[in-house]
Amino acid sequence: MSDATQLYAIAIGSNRPHGQFGRPAGVVEAAIARLDEEFGLFDASPIVLNAAHGGAGRDFANAVALVQSDLDPPQMLRCLKAIEREFGRRPGRRWGPRVLDLDVALWSGGKFRSRRLTVPHPQLARRSFVLQPLAAIAPGWEVGALNVRHLAFRHARRAPNSP
Ligand code: ATP
Ligand code: MG
Ligand code: MG
Repeated sequence: MSDATQLYAIAIGSNRPHGQFGRPAGVVEAAIARLDEEFGLFDASPIVLNAAHGGAGRDFANAVALVQSDLDPPQMLRCLKAIEREFGRRPGRRWGPRVLDLDVALWSGGKFRSRRLTVPHPQLARRSFVLQPLAAIAPGWEVGALNVRHLAFRHARRAPNSP
């Protein structure tokens, strides 16, 4: 591994069917395969089905993938946005129905902040649809003073029925 190699946790979500890949769970599975083709895939969580949140309206399939890359966070975001477009995502309302959403949940460099990108993802600690799959594959990943398992436990205790 070169010094520039980073580990990224990518949060994957879909709540629209795709012509080729079918229902959201099929889209998430295809996205995991696509990430494997693009990067070194270390692990992928089970795919979880979640009730719609925000104004999105339709149920989601979610997963988290751990990938290795030499890209820096802005380059990684551009690459993820390109894959979203490849899957047919068109720019639209934030949180609206989308065939594929790929967010940078965490990276091994710790914090990153620019106008276009904040890592760790600002909503990470409030989203069980990211914390649960993340805890299945990277429970010990440190996020500040806590780790992913702590965040998942705390979220489940405080908000057992929220997304
Ligand atoms: P949310 O970020 O709340 O999950 P979303 O994923 O639906 O919302 P998008 O429309 O996919 O939102 O992205 C909106 C913008 O969010 C992106 O163009 C990007 O610039 C910005 N962004 C900021 N931080 C991140 C991050 N960690 N991962 C992905 N996008 C991010
Ligand atoms: Mg998102
Ligand atoms: Mg997004």
